[in-house]
Amino acid sequence: MNIKLAFLGAARNVTGSRCRVEANDVRLLVDCGLYQERAFKSRNWDPFPVAPDTLDAVLLTHAHLDHSGLLPKLVREGFRGRIYCTDATAKIAQIALADSAKIQEEDAEFKRKRHEKEGRKGPYPEIPLYTTDDAKACLPLFSPVPYGKPAQIGDGIQATFHNAGHIFGSSMIKVEVKQNGQKRTLLFSGDVGRWDKPILQDPALFKEADYVLVESTYGNRVHDNSGAIGAQLADVINSTVEAGGNIVVPSFAIERAQEVLYHINNLLIEDRIPHLMVFVDSPMAVNVTEVFKDHPDLFDEEMTEIVRQGRSPFDFPSLHMVKTADESKAINRIIGTAMIIAGSGMCTGGRVKYHLVANISRPESTILFVGYQAVGTLGRQIIDGAKEVRILGRKYPVRARVVQIHGFSGHADRDELFRWLSALQRPPRRLFVVHGEAEAACQFADFISEKTGWNTSVPHYGEEVILD
Ligand SMILES: [Zn+2]
Repeated sequence: MNIKLAFLGAARNVTGSRCRVEANDVRLLVDCGLYQERAFKSRNWDPFPVAPDTLDAVLLTHAHLDHSGLLPKLVREGFRGRIYCTDATAKIAQIALADSAKIQEEDAEFKRKRHEKEGRKGPYPEIPLYTTDDAKACLPLFSPVPYGKPAQIGDGIQATFHNAGHIFGSSMIKVEVKQNGQKRTLLFSGDVGRWDKPILQDPALFKEADYVLVESTYGNRVHDNSGAIGAQLADVINSTVEAGGNIVVPSFAIERAQEVLYHINNLLIEDRIPHLMVFVDSPMAVNVTEVFKDHPDLFDEEMTEIVRQGRSPFDFPSLHMVKTADESKAINRIIGTAMIIAGSGMCTGGRVKYHLVANISRPESTILFVGYQAVGTLGRQIIDGAKEVRILGRKYPVRARVVQIHGFSGHADRDELFRWLSALQRPPRRLFVVHGEAEAACQFADFISEKTGWNTSVPHYGEEVILD
C-alpha cells in the first residue's frame, strides 16, 4: 500500500484544518480551513502548499470557518474539483463564506484607511484575502452527499460521511482506499461533538479503522457539566424581567443561537419563564436557522417530538426573526423586557454592538454570554469586569449585570474523545492527534497511549507520512 498523508494545518494548533491525501493518482484535501489564531494568521496569505489545480476533490467535514474558510482562495487559485459534504454543510458553508468574504473586504478597507492616515504599512497587503465574488465561485462546486452513503471520489477511493454531532450537518469522514487487492481505511474525526446535545444526533461510532486522525481541542480538559443550562437561563430571564431591563445575548450564528432558542422554547413549554419577546437580530443566524428548518431529518428524537407537537423552537409565538436594520433599531424602543440574540459572538462586530450601546449602562439589563470570549475582544473585556468599555468609538460605563453560562461547548472533552475512540474494536495501525494546541494535543496523545498502548503521534505542520 502507498498512501501519502500531509498535515497542512491544525497540526499542533486549533485552526486552519487541512490535510492532503494522495493515493492511486488521486489527490484530495480533507477540509480547507482559515487560520484564526493570531500567531498563525500569516499562513492564510502563504501560497497553498499544494497547487490548487492539481487537487481532484475536497472533503469538507463541516461549515465552521476554521475548516472551510480558505475554500474561496483555493477556488480563485485554480481548484476546479468537487467539494463533497452533506447538504446542510453546503448550505451553511455558503452562508458562512459569504459573511467571511464581507468581513475580509471590510477589514481590508478599514486597514487601508488607517494605514493611510498613519502613513505606515501593515504586515499583510491591504487587499481582501478573498472577495464576495470568490465566495460565490465556490457554489457550483459543492456536491452534497447524504450520511452513510459512500461517494466514489476516484479510482479505488470512497468516502462516507457520518454524523459528528458537533454542529448541524457536521461529519466524520471515513475514506476507503483499495490498492492491488488490499484495502485501508482512514478515519477523519473532524470536530467531535457531544452526546445529548440539543437538536443534534449523537456522534457516530466506528468499530474499525486502520488510520485515525482525531481532534484534541479539549484533549486535556474535562467539561464542567454541573449547572443545568435551562435552570441558569430561567434564573437570568426571570430576574431581568423583574428588574425591567433587557437581556442581550452575543451569540455565534451557527448552532449556538439555535441552541439558545431551543432552551428558551423548553422553558416556555414548561412555564418556567414569562412570555417575553425574543429577537434573533443577526442576518446570518436567521439564514442558518432556515437551514435547520429545512432539515428535520437531522434532528434528534427529542427535537423531532417537539416539532411533531407543533412547538418548534424556531417558531414560538413571541419569537421574531429580525430581517432589516430598521426592525433592529426598533427593538430598543420596546417597553418591558426583550431578549436580543445578536452577532457577533465575541462582540467584535455586527448588530450586537448597537444593543450593547443601548443596554450596557442600564443596571436593570443583563449581558448574557453563552460562548468563549477570546483575549483582546470586547466580549472578554466585559466578562473580565471592565468598568468602562469603548463601543463604536464612544466610551460607556458598564452598569448592566454580566452573566456567563458555561456548558454550551460543541466539542467533546478528553473523556468524551476517549469514549469515541473506545468504540474501535481493534487498535488502529496509527492514531494521529490533530486540531489541538500543542500542549492539549500532546497530553491527549499521552493519555491515549497510556490507556490503550496504541501507536500514537502528534504531527507537526507540514509533516508528511506514508501509510502502508
Ligand atoms: Zn467546528
